[in-house]
Amino acid sequence: MSACLFCQIAAGERPATIVQRSADVVAFRDIHPQAPTHILIIPTKHIVSVAELAVEDEKLMGRLLTVAKEIAQQENLGQGYRLVINTGSQAGQSVFHLHVHLLGGRAMHWPPG
Ligand code: 5GP
Ligand code: ZN
Repeated sequence: MSACLFCQIAAGERPATIVQRSADVVAFRDIHPQAPTHILIIPTKHIVSVAELAVEDEKLMGRLLTVAKEIAQQENLGQGYRLVINTGSQAGQSVFHLHVHLLGGRAMHWPPG
């Protein structure tokens, strides 16, 4: 079994509330939601963070955003939502498998904390 939490979720080896699954992308609900809708969208491929992206990952990154858009529609987030990719520990990244946070269902503030 992989040591990476999100690789385990992608492989079905760790329980999660899966929202959408395809060969290259998995979306599941965050275990500590910070908004009424809080979903994590990850590549099934283990990529540590945006800082480790390769040129070959460009299409996959586009897929993550398209999946985010589809899920936002399913979750009725027509009034708006926020996509966040924390990159590195100072930015608040705590799981080192690249993930997009999809947050919605409440007013968002700017600048973020
Ligand atoms: P980060 O801080 O790296 O940007 O985001 C990691 C997110 O993963 C956090 O919002 C945290 O609540 C979530 N998380 C951590 N462990 C698990 C888990 O085992 N299952 C799920 N569904 N979410 C998790
Ligand atoms: Zn991983």
